[in-house]
Order: sequence, then structure tokens, then C-alpha cells
Amino acid sequence: MEQREETIVIFPFMAQGHIIPALALALQVEQMGYKITLVNTPLNIRNLKSSLPPASTINLLELPFNSSDHCGLLPESENTDVLPYPLIVNLLHASLSLRPTFHNLLSGLVRGGAPPLCIIADIFLGWTVEVAHELGLFHAFFSGAGGFGLACYTSMWLHLPHRKTDSVEFTLPDFQESGKFHITQLSATVLTADGTDPWSKFQHGNIPFWGESDGFLFNTVEELDKTGLNYFRRKFGVSVWPVGPILTSAGHTVSTGQETKFSLERYVEWLDEKPAKSVIYVSFGTQNTISASQMTQLAKALEGCEQYFIWVVRPPLGFDINAEFQAEEWLPEGFIQRNEESKRGLVVVKWAPQVEILSHGSVGVFLSHCGWNSVLESLSRGVPLIGWPMAAEQFYNVKFLEEEVRVCLEVARGTVFEVRCADIEEKIRLVMGEGDRGKEIRRRACEVKDMIKDAIRVKEGFKGSSVKAMEDFLNAALLVKEKTRV
Ligand code: UDP
Repeated sequence: MEQREETIVIFPFMAQGHIIPALALALQVEQMGYKITLVNTPLNIRNLKSSLPPASTINLLELPFNSSDHCGLLPESENTDVLPYPLIVNLLHASLSLRPTFHNLLSGLVRGGAPPLCIIADIFLGWTVEVAHELGLFHAFFSGAGGFGLACYTSMWLHLPHRKTDSVEFTLPDFQESGKFHITQLSATVLTADGTDPWSKFQHGNIPFWGESDGFLFNTVEELDKTGLNYFRRKFGVSVWPVGPILTSAGHTVSTGQETKFSLERYVEWLDEKPAKSVIYVSFGTQNTISASQMTQLAKALEGCEQYFIWVVRPPLGFDINAEFQAEEWLPEGFIQRNEESKRGLVVVKWAPQVEILSHGSVGVFLSHCGWNSVLESLSRGVPLIGWPMAAEQFYNVKFLEEEVRVCLEVARGTVFEVRCADIEEKIRLVMGEGDRGKEIRRRACEVKDMIKDAIRVKEGFKGSSVKAMEDFLNAALLVKEKTRV
């Protein structure tokens, strides 16, 4: 690998679901010979320090951030790992206060004669484009969300309000053909937004910055996600580089201090004993949980369908997400012990090594909230999904995966949805069973796995679309650097 002199500064938004793909991007670009500086708030930097592979020389830089200075906007601690979704908006507003320190950091580098080649910032940190351009630096946004999901999400925020929608079915003006939506596919935040609430204020301040950047890096694949990517090309008139999937490799997940009672070996041992594709993996990501009654129905379904399962649980809605998990209160009597003893199911509190689990050949389906990292981790291993979207762009991800990509079946929506165990069981049987529907979904998941592999393949003169997109992005940044030198 040729070592290069240029530094790339990467600045993710301060939540686990954003930091995980940003770290994976940083490691990938480091592998290409570039120096990397990863910027974030102190607690996240501390967690990142223990997550870097030993050979990595990524420079981790703290931006001072005191969340308690923000008029009670955030809880006392800066623990954003498990911030419940409604509090994210506070963190979004608070992140605007990082602008002066970020400016100082970059201007120090420029003054010191070592200007970075480019700034790659999270889509939620729109203001970074002004800071970069003030200093004559190339700037790109990085979206850890997929093209279609983020396109719908953006369009929803740009066409408020939706509660005046007359019918339960509506079509997004930007998506005449693929954009028929049902009112239940709107998260509560979009549905109640009218332009004056904190969410709309943030989005309307942030989204306009997107058109000012030099471009968008997307953690997705052109062949998979064209509709959404073309929306960004059309709407914002900027370059769009789909460079995905940028995946955390097994063993390099970001440490969150949430490790559970099982060692990795224990999962592998447990999975090794199960037949190929026989296990359901259930997880709702880092920010979401379901209601207590939904939890009961899901537990009954997992026992009722008589499949093996690994379920990552968190306290149900209404309880502190960091609280101790009270199995006797929130799960059917004896659920954990019964399933552990019969070796039918593992219940894991808070955190499981997801990438390693999905990489194991015994996993047959992922019941997921369909956050985009989870989707990519699943599909790149050919594991189909059962979708239960909770928030943000997850509703559109599930629609896309079910209707366009055909690798997913939706089972429920959000936390107020009245889900019945029989419905969950039915979806599990459909996806895992021998019927035509299940066979077709599993066949498609394998096809998509190959499509994803092709996008990152470099062999005998062939370069996949994501490899080319990454080259195009770096060449665009290098060209600007050359021009500024002249
Ligand atoms: N994750 C994990 N173990 C868990 C829960 C989540 O390793 O128990 C990782 C998962 O592999 C993924 C990320 O956390 O990389 C979650 O990102 P996603 O976009 O799926 O959802 P979010 O948490 O942002 O809603």
C-alpha cells in the first residue's frame, strides 16, 4: 500500500449508529494509505480508543462538549450511546455549539501548513460545509443511511405538514412513481411537525447545507439504490458517490461498554450446534425499544414458532433504556431459563456482537428495525429480513426492501402498533418456510449478496461500482487541492 501525505478529517454525529459506519469508513480509507483524523466529543473518543485495531494509526481528536451547558436539553451525562430517540433532537441542536471549536481545529491545521485533503462530515452536521469552505477545504457529507430511505426522509421534511393529509394514503411529490405511502409510515416526529417544533427547525436549518457541499458519500451500492441516489443528484445538484457497503468487520465493532454476559466464543459455540439458516436473530438497534405488550407478543411468537433465536432485549418503552432488565416483569414467566435450558433461545441484554452473529451460517433471518447498518450487515451476508421499523427513515427502508428489493417482509410499525404473536409467527414461517414466498425472498437475498460483493470487487481489470465511486471522490478532492496550490 502506497503511504500518502494527505490527511482526511472525518466527523460523525455523536450517536452509535452514526459513529459505527464512520469508523468503518475511516479504517477503509486508512487502508488506502491516507492519514485519518477522527473528530468527536470526549466520551465517544474514549470509546473509540478501545475500538481501534492495534495496527491503526487513526488520530482521535476530542472536541470539548459539555451537554449540561445546554439548558437541560440533554441528560446530565454525555452518554449518547443509548439516547432514546426523542432526545436525539436535543443532541442535534446542541451539536451546533461545536462549530467554533471545529473551526479552530481546522484553521490550526491550515495555519500549521497541513491543511486536510477534505472534510467528511455527517449529514446532520450541515454547518461543517461553511467551516470547510471558509478555509478553502473540500467537503463531503457522509450518509450512513441508504439512498431511498434518506431521500424519502428528506422529502417528508421538505413537504410539511403531513397531518393535513386528507387520506391515509398519500404520494410524495418527489416520488410520483415509487412513493405511495401510508400515514402509518410517518414517524410521530414527522406527523406532528409543522415547521415550528424542534425537529422541523433543525431539519429546515440543516438540509439546505446539503446542496452547498462538494458531494455526498453514501454507504450504499449504486445497483441496489439508484432511485434514492438519483433523487440527491437531481434535488441538490451535487456529486453522489455510493461507496458501500462500508462494513464493520467482525471483531472491530465499536466498544460501548455494554458488553453482555456471553463471550463471543459462547455465541459461536451455541450457533455451531444449530443447523444452517435455522436461527432468527432479533434486534432493534442502538436507539429503540418496543412496548411491554409488544415484547410479550414477540416472546410468545419466538417460542410458538419453534425456531432457534437470539434476541437482544432492552427495557420496554416507558422505562429508562439504561435500567436493569427485569425479565420476570417484562417477559413471560421462566422465558429466559426455559429457552436457555432447551438451547432454543438466547436472550441477551442490551448488546450482542451483531456482525459476528450475522456472519454465522446458522442465522436464517434477521428480525430488525431496519436501521441501514443492520440492513447492510444482513444483506451482505445473504440474510433476509423481517422488518419492524421504529423511527426516522426505517419505515422507508422497510418499504424499499419489501417492495423494490424483495428481501423483507414487514411485521409491525412503531411502538403503538398492536402486534399479535400469531402475526409474527406467520411472518417467520413465511420467510423461513418451504413455501414459494420464503424461497423467493431467500433467493433474492443471495442475489443481493452477490450484487453487493460485485460492487466492491477488484479483479483482473474489473472494478466494482463502489470502488470506482471511492476513486472518483478522492480524485475530485485531489484535483481541488492541486488547483488551490497553483
Ligand atoms: N449493534 C450491535 N449490537 C447490538 C445492537 C447494535 O453490534 O446489540 C450495531 C449493529 O451491528 C449496527 C449498529 O449497531 O452496526 C446499529 O446501527 P443501525 O443503523 O442498524 O441502527 P441504529 O442503532 O442507528 O438505529
